[in-house]
Amino acid sequence: MTLFLTFAYGLIFGSFLNVLIYRLPRGENIAYPPSHCTSCNTKLKPRDLIPVFSFLFLGGKCRYCGEKIHWCYPVTEIVNALGWMTIIYYYGLSARGVAGCFLFSLALVIGQIDLEHYLIPDSLVITLLAGGVVYHFFSQEMGILNRILGLAVGFAIPFLLAVVSRGGMGGGDIKLTAAMGFWLGFPGVFYALFVGALVGSITGILLIALKRKKRRDPIPFGPFLVLGFLVIFFFRDQFVQWYWNLF
Ligand SMILES: [Zn+2]
Repeated sequence: MTLFLTFAYGLIFGSFLNVLIYRLPRGENIAYPPSHCTSCNTKLKPRDLIPVFSFLFLGGKCRYCGEKIHWCYPVTEIVNALGWMTIIYYYGLSARGVAGCFLFSLALVIGQIDLEHYLIPDSLVITLLAGGVVYHFFSQEMGILNRILGLAVGFAIPFLLAVVSRGGMGGGDIKLTAAMGFWLGFPGVFYALFVGALVGSITGILLIALKRKKRRDPIPFGPFLVLGFLVIFFFRDQFVQWYWNLF
């Protein structure tokens, strides 16, 4: 029953994530105006706003103007719901379980916005950091000094990389890894950067090999950073074991 409710809440929260993904990078207010079709501006009724089901029922089109609704919307809702359900299944309604859901959703929003707009809104980084401060008081995972060290390292490594590569990493990436560092401490933040850089470069090479991207095309790093972050938050022990077996 808990899992079913988690799934339902995950869907509903997922449609709020869609609002963030659409409005934050456009500098729009996230609460006002109420949900409307982005094409014809018609205000949507509650029956148009049921996660996933409205999309299916309407055949992926706006009820009022017939404009196609992007499939990203229901997919975000479903992925968020599945993610929440899996996390609560493993951790229950513990501090770690709730924090895991929070991070999973935030990662979805940051990743999608960066992928589409090549930017990471400061408000999301601040939300991530504030969540980390709250989490610190509910968990005995590590001391505050370790978290601050993680924050400093999370700032310093990408900052140095940005200086050396002259702009390979953006300012948004640097702030993001600093906030991640507060959550993961040291060396956790280093592991997360490692995973992000590894998956990011493999993806970059594949995209170039498949001729989907040219060598000079920018590839947003945010999606890979949040992926590395989630991997280390949930699977740190497994990662450490794998990492040391490499050498
Ligand atoms: Zn419309």
